[in-house]
Amino acid sequence: MEQNGIAMLQELIDGAQRIVFFGGAGASTESGIPDFRGEDGIYRQPYPVPPETMLHIRTLKRHPKQFFEFYRQNMIYPDAKPNAAHRKLAELERAGKLSGIITQNIDGLHQLAGSRNVVELHGSVLRNSCIKCGKEYPMEFLMEAEGVPRCTECGGIVRPDVVLYGEALSSAALDTATDLIREADLLIVGGTSLTVQPAASLAACFGGEHLVLINLQETPADPYADLVLHEKLGEVLSQITVGAAAEV
Ligand code: NAD
Repeated sequence: MEQNGIAMLQELIDGAQRIVFFGGAGASTESGIPDFRGEDGIYRQPYPVPPETMLHIRTLKRHPKQFFEFYRQNMIYPDAKPNAAHRKLAELERAGKLSGIITQNIDGLHQLAGSRNVVELHGSVLRNSCIKCGKEYPMEFLMEAEGVPRCTECGGIVRPDVVLYGEALSSAALDTATDLIREADLLIVGGTSLTVQPAASLAACFGGEHLVLINLQETPADPYADLVLHEKLGEVLSQITVGAAAEV
């Protein structure tokens, strides 16, 4: 672990008042949920059809049985618990240092750790509803259903409130995320390859004081950051002391 990097991150956090964390699948790998493009990511597994195709809206419409088979096997982790990164970010929010989290994740782990202001760009596996009548269902309903989950009221397909390939992101979520990033004085980007849009362009609209990148692999934004740590997010953030400056 690069101790100078940790010390510099601590200094940046101590000096900041409106920290925003922008993260992706790498924020949850230490909770046992695989990412997409990391070393053990889903994209490196030998599937006959690429995950982008399996998680496409057209697959849900045309081949719902196969869609839900893939979705259940790869996207739902009911036993996953928040890790050190989720917990430290929640602590920073409670201390009034962090104004919000923008996540591409769909696992709900930031909220489970206690974070309140979380923008879920890609939705959540925890919310599900009937595409016909809108009746809402918990995640357990999808997990326990045989084959295609059907609404108990009208028989419509019950789908996750997750943005699939071929679907647009919520413009309200995007606006909130953009506002948060614009108002931030320190943006910490972590656990995201920054290859999926709008992740890359959101990170690019940060004009505040300091940009920090914590990601195992290089990202296209590395050259613009004040600090780049190619380390595990949870291992890095667990070394940060909240309120350290106030104690000195
Ligand atoms: P990605 O798979 O493209 O990139 C993840 C990045 O995180 C990689 O560059 C990897 O090197 C890095 N990484 C992995 N573990 C890390 C760790 N412990 N510390 C620091 N870095 C680590 O993921 P993405 O950029 O979020 O984009 C892919 C899409 O995958 C997103 O849209 C997201 O919705 C979806 N996804 C979500 C989950 C989840 O909710 N947990 C899981 C898999 C995929």
